[in-house]
Amino acid sequence: MKDIVLITGGGRGIGAATARLAVARGYDVIINYKSNAETAAKVVTEIEAAGGRGLAVQGDMAKEEDVERLFKAVDGFGPLKHLVYNSGVTGKNSRFEAVSTQTLRDNVDINLMGAFFCARAAIPRLSTKHGKAGGSMVFLSSVQSRLGAPGEYVWYAATKSGVDGLVSGLSKELAGEGIRVNIVSPGPIDTEIHEPGRLARIAPQLPTGRVGKPEEVAEAILFLISDAASYTSGTTLSVSGAR
Ligand code: NAP
Repeated sequence: MKDIVLITGGGRGIGAATARLAVARGYDVIINYKSNAETAAKVVTEIEAAGGRGLAVQGDMAKEEDVERLFKAVDGFGPLKHLVYNSGVTGKNSRFEAVSTQTLRDNVDINLMGAFFCARAAIPRLSTKHGKAGGSMVFLSSVQSRLGAPGEYVWYAATKSGVDGLVSGLSKELAGEGIRVNIVSPGPIDTEIHEPGRLARIAPQLPTGRVGKPEEVAEAILFLISDAASYTSGTTLSVSGAR
């Protein structure tokens, strides 16, 4: 039986690239999506065409009941081995005094509370303390957790700092239970999370002169969940082109 990877927000962008690479590396893949059923269904078709088992499950990771429903669907699919918490939003870019309360709440609820909910649900399904076989978790942070995203989305950077803190503590708490917990911290990557024109504007200022590709982030995620990273936990792998 192949190991099962759950990727939240796996229908587009970095999550979809990770799903495609995971099936190529021999995993079965469950993706979650919130709104875009069509793109999620396409990723599942690609997974199956590549010889893997795939499943797409709708669910808003900001909602506890949706996370519970997602993990029940995972249980029906097979034993979970790896969680990739990838769902994320920034909201409309602005200075801090102009941000809406809704954007602040969405960022905290999706980027941080969703990560909390999914980590909590994954532990009893992975931990040797709960009679399970062990596994790993990867959380998507961002270089902005240290740069701060001034003038664009400081609130987003703050939630990603929260993700960094979650992984710091959780990796130690779970280290003796067969669970590794790591971060992938991308720089600017070519996905739809950015406002139109942002990537073209910032690319010339980046050390590499270009933004990254979702596939380049997927490689880091697949390394961290693999046995090649068996002694790697509580660490951050930046995929940021020297930023
Ligand atoms: P993206 O292309 O905008 O995709 C975002 C994904 O998150 C989509 O699959 C979306 O699902 C899902 N999502 C949004 N709200 C959700 C919710 N409430 N519940 C469940 N899923 C939800 O973004 P991306 O660039 O691939 O970003 C993936 C992760 O990498 C995020 O955590 C982001 O913060 C992080 N990151 C990205 C960059 C970058 O430059 N792209 C840099 C640093 C970090 P639907 O398709 O259903 O909308």
